[in-house]
Amino acid sequence: MTQQAALGYLRHGLTPFFRLPVILPMDHRTAAPLEPTYQGANAVLLGVPHDAGTTYQPGARFAPFEIRRVSALVQGHHLEHSCDVFDRIAAIDGGNVAFPPFDRALMRAAVDGEVAQVLDAGAAPFVVGGDHSVALPALRAIARHHGPVAVVHVDAHLDTGSLETWGDEFHHGTPLRHAIQEGLIAKGQLHQVGIRGPWGAADEGALSGSIGGTLATMATVEARGIAHLMAEIREKIGEHPVYLTFDIDAIDPAFAPGTGTPVPGGLTSREAFALIWPCSRCAPIGGR
Ligand code: MN
Ligand code: MN
Repeated sequence: MTQQAALGYLRHGLTPFFRLPVILPMDHRTAAPLEPTYQGANAVLLGVPHDAGTTYQPGARFAPFEIRRVSALVQGHHLEHSCDVFDRIAAIDGGNVAFPPFDRALMRAAVDGEVAQVLDAGAAPFVVGGDHSVALPALRAIARHHGPVAVVHVDAHLDTGSLETWGDEFHHGTPLRHAIQEGLIAKGQLHQVGIRGPWGAADEGALSGSIGGTLATMATVEARGIAHLMAEIREKIGEHPVYLTFDIDAIDPAFAPGTGTPVPGGLTSREAFALIWPCSRCAPIGGR
């Protein structure tokens, strides 16, 4: 399951993530569901083109297509880890999760079902949103499979909003509230990084604190340094299976200006890489 040759990619003109092989869970002509043959895969990348849960600037529904397009440039050899990534990890593009674009409940059901199929095949799901409301159904499927997991949540926001703000429970500002209340996250294993900006009230972090979550604001990142901070988080995670959920607005809008909810004072691109690398040495969700 290595990458397709760059010239082969140019010839056929299709754009799978990282020029990976594609296995679709749906017949693309009739939309009839297919039993995907994920067996043997370590990781399955799924796009979720959905932004009906966003509160400000939409557009995240296009992200899976854009990320596929730019990822076609990425070569397989990792300079820092000194390894050929797609020789070590059998990764495939599982296509996009499909649902009516205006129906958030159907989105959650579809994402939950497809992430469960990936887990049943023993592979790790790699979900590319979409707005952050797509994280809740992914976490539900993961917690059904593994029990409560460790979560590294990288975001400008806590995402523990309630019904109060918009009169709606399921949008991009609430996935962590549901994950906590539904017991999807292990006690002491919520690690929130990059949090900043003004809060509505001093106790906004209380819900995360109620399960022993740790909160690293951008001031903490600045003071401690990302490498040191992540070494501590890695130590706390120990052998727990871990799910990394990364909101693009964690990165400073100077680097990622297209996000729906830009908040200044965020992570640099370099800090984002330095943050993800230590997580790669955690126990993977897929179990391989
Ligand atoms: Mn956010
Ligand atoms: Mn978020």
